Amino acid sequence: GRYTKEDIIRMVEEEGVEFIRLQFTDMFGQLKNVAITSSQLDKALSNKCMFDGSSIDGFVRIEESDMYLIPDYETFEVFPWRPQQGKVARVICDIYRPNQEPFEGDPRYILRRAIEDAAKDGYTFNVGPECEFFLFHTDDDGQPTTISHERAGYFDLGPIDLGENTRRDMVLSLEDMGFEIEASHHEVAPAQHEIDFKYEEAMHAADNIMTFKLTVKTIAKRHGMYATFMPKPKYGIAGSGMHINMSLFKDGKNIFENQSDELGLSKEAYYFIGGLIKHIKGMTAITNPLVNSYKRLVPGFEAPNHIAWSSVNRSPLIRIPASRGASTRVELRCPDPAANPYLCLAVCLEAGLDGIRNKIEPPAPVNENVYEMSDEELERRGIEYLPENLLLAVRELEKDEFIKGVLGSHISQKYITAKKTEWMEYREQVTKWEVDEYLYKY
Ligand code: ADP
Ligand code: MG
Ligand code: MG
Repeated sequence: GRYTKEDIIRMVEEEGVEFIRLQFTDMFGQLKNVAITSSQLDKALSNKCMFDGSSIDGFVRIEESDMYLIPDYETFEVFPWRPQQGKVARVICDIYRPNQEPFEGDPRYILRRAIEDAAKDGYTFNVGPECEFFLFHTDDDGQPTTISHERAGYFDLGPIDLGENTRRDMVLSLEDMGFEIEASHHEVAPAQHEIDFKYEEAMHAADNIMTFKLTVKTIAKRHGMYATFMPKPKYGIAGSGMHINMSLFKDGKNIFENQSDELGLSKEAYYFIGGLIKHIKGMTAITNPLVNSYKRLVPGFEAPNHIAWSSVNRSPLIRIPASRGASTRVELRCPDPAANPYLCLAVCLEAGLDGIRNKIEPPAPVNENVYEMSDEELERRGIEYLPENLLLAVRELEKDEFIKGVLGSHISQKYITAKKTEWMEYREQVTKWEVDEYLYKY
């Protein structure tokens, strides 16, 4: 491991850390934490910190509410944006029941289980996410808006790119927390940005996504702005995605590459794609968790809405980027940053493994523009649509026993129920579009 308990206690003393946040993520991808003072650190690091699980969405009933926070020493980090006096640090925790069993409602446990499953075949799952977000103004009461006066586009720079300074500060803070930032740039839509960091082993990558979102929001606030990872905050412009780049390594080597293959891909890579395509409908409620997620998955904004893969096209659901060697990877392009990263990576990994273990051949690649194909042609080629709204996605999840198994019965039941409620609430709303469209006609 990176740190021992003694290392952490020493670092807290040396750096003058006064508060330590014990963090975890709930089923819906919300970061939660309990702050302790450094005097409680020894107790916390000895796995003696408890909290009331019944007050966390989707966790447990009142009768079984005691939960233990088990700090993962590897994740200790001092927040760089806090004052030099009285610093704040965090450590990410696993959640255990009082009987010392991991809690099956903890998303980190679901990912750990999938990682251990892959390890049985000697695989390490590496993941590089590409997270997009918007920077908006707040109103006079400090509430977030969807307003921006910025009009820059893809790869533009200052002074048109008003978010440039904010983004640079984000990059520096992330680097202070150990991120290796590969690129950062203005995205296609006004006020939209992307910061890419280097791929890591899946658990580290999922932790990084949570840390990334917290950092981006914190630094934006310091600059008087509001950062949002809402998938489609505005009609008519691109939404925010979180492309997931994936590869499997064995004995330190990327096993997705095979130089003698026409596309440079191994059998395992093709089967991994086959597994993703087989399960993608059942996974969509996890990769695209909100009513709003499905407003991003529409034609015209580089987001996928058909189930297809390609090594030449940039816009299909699954893309094989051109780089080979250690960078040979499969890129899944439907996920958005509202997804719970632990659950998202768990279902991606297991779907891919299912492909490898059962030798699931992918369909033929689709190198033409799917958006220009007629319904007859799509049907002839067997190209299906992704679920078109949250309800359809949840129904697909209900049908996919394999994906439900990956999530475990606790999470799949609670998740399905919560997402149906979310849909029902939405469905009752009378939207501005309807009033504009129908009121004067009928
Ligand atoms: P693109 O523009 O092609 O969509 P980017 O260059 O923006 O992709 O992002 C590439 C992401 O893929 C980075 O996070 C990078 O670290 C990651 N990546 C590179 N090699 C691998 C690999 N072998 N496995 C997983 N992710 C990888
Ligand atoms: Mg992008
Ligand atoms: Mg990409």
